Amino acid sequence: MGLMRATSISILLSIGISNADALPCREVIKVFYRPEMNVADSGSYSPSAGKPAQLMDYYRANNAPTEIVSFPPLSPADFKVVHDSAYVDGIFNLTEKNGFGNRNPEIADSLRYTSASMLAAAREALKSGIAHSPTSGFHHAHTSCASGFCTFNGLALTAKILLDEGAVRKVAIVDLDMHKGDGTDDILFRKDLEGRVFHFTAGREFYIRDQVPRYFEALESLRNDIERTKPDLILYQAGADPHIKDPLGGMLTTAEMMKRDEMIFKMARDFNIPIVWNLAGGYQIDSDGTLNPVLRLHYNTLLAAQGVYRISEPEALSETP
Ligand SMILES: [Zn+2]
Repeated sequence: MGLMRATSISILLSIGISNADALPCREVIKVFYRPEMNVADSGSYSPSAGKPAQLMDYYRANNAPTEIVSFPPLSPADFKVVHDSAYVDGIFNLTEKNGFGNRNPEIADSLRYTSASMLAAAREALKSGIAHSPTSGFHHAHTSCASGFCTFNGLALTAKILLDEGAVRKVAIVDLDMHKGDGTDDILFRKDLEGRVFHFTAGREFYIRDQVPRYFEALESLRNDIERTKPDLILYQAGADPHIKDPLGGMLTTAEMMKRDEMIFKMARDFNIPIVWNLAGGYQIDSDGTLNPVLRLHYNTLLAAQGVYRISEPEALSETP
């Protein structure tokens, strides 16, 4: 038994998963991935544009019980329900800079697939309870501008489309990336969505290690808020950059990040609320120059989902980052 597996089980026990036997068995988690989502080199500091393909390889190498599912891309017009029309047109005709600060046409092409992955995964979650979108680059995207490696806000967009369709009445965006979802705040305010989209963004108030006890208290309060708010869907942004070794983060240990993930999945499961999770930030590079430390943290989120939803026996990793 690897260290991570032992840690995972002890955390599961510590947060009181005792009635898991009553859950329906699932064999796989559906992952909404297409190669078109991926751009190997974004031309910026952030590795996020190339992360989907790397993570799919990582899941495969670790025999993760995942099933890759395809989906249709969005059209440029679809983005205009939360973004200004001129901004959307500017991104696709390459007159506006994207979130990576350039006008790389490959990035523009990929954006129709990344937000579409989030939307498709959310639709699957509404059907089966849980799904995964291996996407990043959403929460700093404002109504009419890109920011912080984010161009279009796939979180707000997914919520708005599903609300407009009547597929849901209320959505919760639980953003546990290291950084504040300022773009999400901007869109929810400007598009008058604040009454129908509950937004928790940990980056609003948690920055340093001394705050970790309060951070977990806040997640307990979040559980109460979710129980009271009763959203029909949770969009969980499981950023890897709160990790203590992240150059743009630096707060939580690996075990604490797994505890974070397990608390959120358990909340969704206990209240029977469909949940879809995506990736967001993560900037650790190992001594060989690979993104493996970040991929491992995202893999741990998958392990947490597997454990809470009893997808199958979690595959253990023998090392921790
Ligand atoms: Zn971040």
